[in-house]
Amino acid sequence: MEYDVIVIGAGLTGLSLAFFLQQKGKKVIVLEKMNRAGGAMHTHSENGFIYEEGPNTGVLGNPEIAELFEMLEIKPVVADKKAEKRLIYKNKNWYALPSGPVSFLKTPLFTLKDKIKIAFEPFVKRGTDPDESVASIASRRIGQSFVDYAVNPFISGIYAGDPEKLTTRYALPKLYKLEQKYGSFIGGSFKKSREPKNARDKKATKEVFSGAVGFGSLIEALVNKIGKENIVCGALDIKVKKVSDRFEVTFNKDQIKQQYLSYKVISSVGANALPDLLPFISPLDMKKMTNLTYAKVVQVAVGVERKAINDKYVSFGGLIPQKENRQLLGVLFPSFCFPDRAPQGYATLAIYLGGTRHPELFDLSDEKLTAIVHEELKDLFKIPSSAICFLKIFRHRYAIPQYEVSTGERLATIAKVEKDHDGLYIAGNIRNGIGIADRVKQAYDIAEQLVWKTAVHYV
Ligand SMILES: Cc1cc2nc3c(=O)[nH]c(=O)nc-3n(C[C@H](O)[C@H](O)[C@H](O)COP(=O)(O)OP(=O)(O)OC[C@H]3O[C@@H](n4cnc5c(N)ncnc54)[C@H](O)[C@@H]3O)c2cc1C
Repeated sequence: MEYDVIVIGAGLTGLSLAFFLQQKGKKVIVLEKMNRAGGAMHTHSENGFIYEEGPNTGVLGNPEIAELFEMLEIKPVVADKKAEKRLIYKNKNWYALPSGPVSFLKTPLFTLKDKIKIAFEPFVKRGTDPDESVASIASRRIGQSFVDYAVNPFISGIYAGDPEKLTTRYALPKLYKLEQKYGSFIGGSFKKSREPKNARDKKATKEVFSGAVGFGSLIEALVNKIGKENIVCGALDIKVKKVSDRFEVTFNKDQIKQQYLSYKVISSVGANALPDLLPFISPLDMKKMTNLTYAKVVQVAVGVERKAINDKYVSFGGLIPQKENRQLLGVLFPSFCFPDRAPQGYATLAIYLGGTRHPELFDLSDEKLTAIVHEELKDLFKIPSSAICFLKIFRHRYAIPQYEVSTGERLATIAKVEKDHDGLYIAGNIRNGIGIADRVKQAYDIAEQLVWKTAVHYV
């Protein structure tokens, strides 16, 4: 069988790629090792509860994600206003992150010294180290208490990672550019907000979203548009081989060996899967491309009686700074953000453990993890065990790639490998951002690039 493009991996990146390429008239096949499409995105529905195994919320942060919904003819569900309230844990209490100048001055989360220091942030000199860590840039510009009680929990919430280890220009490129381009986070944000925007730019917002029935709705819409016949699930032992200027992709499906041919192959798999998939890449290049730490994450979906949650906790959720020495990284309240996530009188929680902070928790038994969750919910939110009506544990060994200093070498090597092997694209969240909107933007950009290159080739 011959295809214009073979996409490997049917997570959000691979499916978005296939969809955008099909829209441009390409004949595409997606090969996925699991028996379902969606990758990290996986929504469960049970006894009136809707809960996620992977991501719970995204941000409509670029036009590409907004346009994907338009093209799929479905609507994102934007989070309730309650989601604007975000809690941070300090000294056995939860505090809302400040939302204005008065709450900023009053909050006990940050020291008075740092509150004063922030007024002088626009006058702090630009950093000169391109590999400066997130913790270092934040401490230099806004103060250590902001690192401890805003940046640290924020990075834990996004990357399940450590701000001391993440490199700002790769992990938070927008923040890095604010300093480099405008010389200030505060001044830069203000100037950026006043820059003229075209109609397309305006599609990017800060709105938090999910799908109608969780992210499963987005995956379902993608699968339906792409066509189930164009997605091969359960494709095992996939190997890509170069045969003159084409790629031969072999795999086993139901114990029958299959072979597809194409001039274009796009991988959207994680770094851990690349060596087996692309055996023709030199060991040195492969080592550089896959030199990547992953945060292991345990996500626990919990259903509780609504009356057991004090109204003061009604919010997007709460994050726990490392300094507080707790076992949990944070808790989200999806049913306070999105409708129909729990039956009347109940609520859903998504609880995160592990990450780079507590990797040892990943290997604990379900029994021990359950005990930790019960204890922590009681201690942190006064939710008694008797109010917990269900609890599901999901382990993600390769949950979130950490964009550390090795990212520069990884990106350069990917560029070299793509140049050495024309028609091969290395996509996925090993580059270009880990967020949902980042995944869709990468897919859109690669589809554009591939179609443009093909057109130039034939001129
Ligand atoms: C627990 C968790 C919570 C998250 N929460 C959020 C959040 O709230 N907001 C947010 O924006 N982002 C979140 N993320 C990040 C975001 O979900 C991911 O970056 C994104 O979904 C990754 O999509 P992907 O398609 O690149 O990779 P994946 O979803 O990992 O898809 C890759 C696919 O490739 C397949 N595959 C792997 N190896 C092979 C092989 N050899 N052959 C064939 N197929 C293969 C896999 O089975 C998988 O289906 C979260 C991630 C995790 C794990």
